[in-house]
Amino acid sequence: MNHERAPGPPWSGQAPTVSDLMAQARRTGVDRLDAQLLLARLLQQPRAWLIAHDDHALEPALAQDFMAQLAERARGVPLAYLLGEREFHGLMLRVTPDVLVPRPDTEVLVDWALELLAGHDHDLPLADHRTPPTVADLGTGSGAIALALKHAWPTALVCAVERSPAALAVAHANGQRLGLPVQWLQGDWFVPLAGRRFDLIVSNPPYIDGADAHLAALHAEPIAALTPGPDGLAALRVLARDAPPHLQSGGWLLLEHGHDQGAAVRSLLHAAGLERVQTRRDLGGQERCTAGRHGPA
Ligand code: GLN
Repeated sequence: MNHERAPGPPWSGQAPTVSDLMAQARRTGVDRLDAQLLLARLLQQPRAWLIAHDDHALEPALAQDFMAQLAERARGVPLAYLLGEREFHGLMLRVTPDVLVPRPDTEVLVDWALELLAGHDHDLPLADHRTPPTVADLGTGSGAIALALKHAWPTALVCAVERSPAALAVAHANGQRLGLPVQWLQGDWFVPLAGRRFDLIVSNPPYIDGADAHLAALHAEPIAALTPGPDGLAALRVLARDAPPHLQSGGWLLLEHGHDQGAAVRSLLHAAGLERVQTRRDLGGQERCTAGRHGPA
């Protein structure tokens, strides 16, 4: 019998140093910064410490954990899952594979929502300083949007809806850890909001077409958070159609969507009877968010 053994790492037999492990990271093709962040976290040190301690020898168990994390990163597991956290709009959020990793592009939606709350359009300010504005975030995932809004606008009454109980548990725990009171509701889109109206409804729903090749690169994230199925507009269609009876007069619906869905989402909002329909671009210059206002009754 011929037992071929997988070659061990080049330091086998002795405790690997920080510099050995970083060389190994280079061989696996993992981004240097990602590798440093993973190693720093395992060692419970700031990243800068690594640079000054190149020759620090690691416990074999810790080195093995690092190698396992490198392998996962190399096969496309997001860094945020391996670190267990991701910063979003100034908040550090815990993230697990039950939730979509919050994206910087979604901060554009948060900033726009805050402008609407501040009444930047000077037409029908949502927040008139007497009654706190009411906000709903549909499909909240990690709670990123709801928590960023509550943090930036503490008087707002924010409620967040999520269909996945596992994701909702992550959002709820994020709210508790950050000390941000949000009403967390489990259910499908507007179902848990029966009879309620809001000044602002926001959502980053699944919008990637089920046949889009881009999905393969996102294999580690929850598929239900990424795609509604074969028709990328399915969730956006439900949100636009069902929003008006849940909007106060003068209230806004604000949706994130795919870079090529701007025109379609504008049509959906017009068809739902919303006014002043407009689109904004993301950090990469792509059409990413569209909003419309529920006119006075
Ligand atoms: N913006 C994400 C991406 O393309 C998708 C998020 C979503 O479907 N809501 O990576």
